[in-house]
Amino acid sequence: MTDNAISLGDLPLREDLRGREPYGAPQLDVPVRLNTNENPYPPSPRLVAALSAAIGEIAGGLNRYPDRDAVELRKDLADYLGHEVTARNVWAANGSNEIIQQILQAFGGPGRTAIGFEPSYSMHPIITAVSGTGWINAHRDEDFGLEAERAVAAIEEHRPDIVFLTSPNNPTGTSLRLEAIEAVLRVAPGMVVVDEAYAEFRREGTPSALSLLPGNPRLIVTRTMSKAFAMAGTRVGYLAADPAVIDALLLVRLPYHLSAVTQTVARTAIAHQEELLGAVETLRAERDALVGWLRGEGLEVADSDANFVLFGRFPDRRRVWQGILDRGVLIREVGPPEWLRVSVGTPDEMAAFRAALKESQ
Ligand code: PMP
Repeated sequence: MTDNAISLGDLPLREDLRGREPYGAPQLDVPVRLNTNENPYPPSPRLVAALSAAIGEIAGGLNRYPDRDAVELRKDLADYLGHEVTARNVWAANGSNEIIQQILQAFGGPGRTAIGFEPSYSMHPIITAVSGTGWINAHRDEDFGLEAERAVAAIEEHRPDIVFLTSPNNPTGTSLRLEAIEAVLRVAPGMVVVDEAYAEFRREGTPSALSLLPGNPRLIVTRTMSKAFAMAGTRVGYLAADPAVIDALLLVRLPYHLSAVTQTVARTAIAHQEELLGAVETLRAERDALVGWLRGEGLEVADSDANFVLFGRFPDRRRVWQGILDRGVLIREVGPPEWLRVSVGTPDEMAAFRAALKESQ
């Protein structure tokens, strides 16, 4: 039963899904993969042993459903976040993509709208559209920042039910000033989501929106274990918000959405956070060195508070991307037309990238 009897177009698919493409960052088997902003450092043998032991301990209970509310994991995540956040303020799901999906299921839907400031994370509009919510595409500043005035003007014009702010932003790496987020909170008529997937990589002096949670019950700050925490394979994302927001998400989450294995692996990773987050400092230094090197090569580079760098400009970026790939290094063709994005890898991977770029221009 492998041959298609019919094609997608023949199925009674929802009209608004017709013609859409699935999300598709290429997953290619090449020596150097710098295209999905993962942490390049795998768990140590000591952590691998701890993860295996933790799974071993729960394996005998896998005939039962997991804790539906993931209470222990939420406690651990709250402790990790600090800012006086408790388990009641935290919710977890299978990646922050699922967190975003649940937010849209609870606060979006037909007849409602969400706004984002592009270029930004491509899944925000995709998850929005798939939830039946209307997407409003606003724009960032010329330097990929987002000043309060521009954000406020767009929100006052469109009155969206959900505002997406991404800081540090993907694919640009730029972060928002707290004043811009505060200004948005003052005028937004609905929920304000600050996607902080890359929060741990920020440079000194760039504060988190977590500090704005007290007194702002419509603010949601989303985070992930996929990036700094080096656990992309585990699929755990989470958010911090007012407990009422979590009550809203309980209405839309699937029962037992977070497997016992996921919860155990995530808790073990948090218990070993010193090791996992230990690489963040190295990655930030490597990022700053990369930005300096690219600028030294005469390229334009966006300021980065993340573990990736957006650089340009290439009138034919596909040719440069392909040239780099031909030398065994996969980066990402994403963002504004003349720019490319590279994730920060190990020193060896960065050396391979620099050599491949030099030969491909
Ligand atoms: N938000 C941003 C800004 C991202 O770049 C990503 C992943 N690329 C995510 C959310 C989703 O990550 P995950 O589902 O792995 O938590």
